[in-house]
Amino acid sequence: MLCLTDIIRDHEPSLQPLLRAVEEAPTLTALLVAVWPLARLLAIHVVASVLAERAQRPTSWPPCPLCGAGLESKGLLKRQVISLFGPLQWRRRVGRCPQGCHLPHVAPLDEELEVRPHQRTSGELQALGCALAVFVPFATAATLLGWYSGRLVSPQAVWGWVQAAGQRAMATLQAHLDALATGALPPEEPLTAEHAVMPLLLGADGVMVPIRPEVGTPKGKTTWREVKVGVLARLGQHRTRAGQVVTHLHQRRLVAVLGNIEALKSRLWLEAVRQGITNAPRVVWLSDGARGLWRVFEECFTAYATGVLDFYHAAQHLWKGAAAWFDGRTTQARRWFEAARHRLRHGQDDGILADLAAAVDMEGLPATARATLHKVYAYLDQHRDHLDYAAYKALGLPLGSGMVESACKWLIQQRFKGVGMRWSETGFDHLLHLRLAWVNGSFETLFQIRLQPSPNT
Ligand SMILES: [Zn+2]
Repeated sequence: MLCLTDIIRDHEPSLQPLLRAVEEAPTLTALLVAVWPLARLLAIHVVASVLAERAQRPTSWPPCPLCGAGLESKGLLKRQVISLFGPLQWRRRVGRCPQGCHLPHVAPLDEELEVRPHQRTSGELQALGCALAVFVPFATAATLLGWYSGRLVSPQAVWGWVQAAGQRAMATLQAHLDALATGALPPEEPLTAEHAVMPLLLGADGVMVPIRPEVGTPKGKTTWREVKVGVLARLGQHRTRAGQVVTHLHQRRLVAVLGNIEALKSRLWLEAVRQGITNAPRVVWLSDGARGLWRVFEECFTAYATGVLDFYHAAQHLWKGAAAWFDGRTTQARRWFEAARHRLRHGQDDGILADLAAAVDMEGLPATARATLHKVYAYLDQHRDHLDYAAYKALGLPLGSGMVESACKWLIQQRFKGVGMRWSETGFDHLLHLRLAWVNGSFETLFQIRLQPSPNT
């Protein structure tokens, strides 16, 4: 009986050297590395024969878009794209207008295969390149792709795919935002029963990114601009072996925009509807003191969410107040601060505000100290409804916004702030939206492919 390698050898003598390289590889690793070019060539043969068969099927010619006459076949013409398996060629029928209209030739098989007229690389290669570029620099992504496709891939090519895919992602988002503006609510994302009963957490933060000052040139001094990032997640809790209760974010979704607070607001609201804000058993908005972000809360979320001011941020303000009040008398400042922090944690903020009010009115207080105390008072007073930490703790809600901030920072920090990195605004936007697609689980949809194996295969 012939074994598979003999069949291959007999049918495709051109594969002889590749087969020999496999047979002569000394180690398992060398064997598997040597078999990869062979696997690629075999894959190309299989795909090419399927395409050759399809090219033989009868073609239904569309009418000429200019004059309406039925197009006529001009015979078979070669087409090539670079795939993950290397260059793939096929011949397919092309047609032209019999009246001689000026048109590029028409290839119905390409349209059926969803190969665009000037496309030089196939979709799966672009998707893999974009997935790598979400995490590593373009040059590294190109090198890795080169290893597996057996062709040199240029960083510029990867960059080009990222621009195209990023633009698609942004256009889709814009369409959803436009629909939302007319009152059309997006469908909710399906949730597991386990997640559906968990509280929904909302929060946002700003992260700075280095942007090139001039379009089209890397010259000039870097300008830093703020990307506003929002996070939405279901809050799960579990008890560690040491008995500590730890909070975890499930179904984490991020939104982000290099733009103003209004742009963040519409994106947050869109995603909040998708994440079931109207049905969640509890919704919590967790944030530090940044005013713009609290305005988003006031304008969009008060009807649904409990607002929680980050406890550690609030405590920091208490310390500032104590330091101003007991100027230089460190022991007394520390004593008041520690008592106040304790009262804050246990829901006795009225007493703290009374203390601060009395301190502001004290005679002989230096003007700068009075101003600081006034600010601390105003800050806590403004957030009176967001300081009920004893109740939040009892409900199992986190008191700190650290989780929100680290989720926001991660999105930007990991890829956009490497040594010497600077971004054009559009280049940044395109890659940002690919990263969002990745973390939000919509990357495969964006490329209309399915790569993730299902759990039972
Ligand atoms: Zn015509």
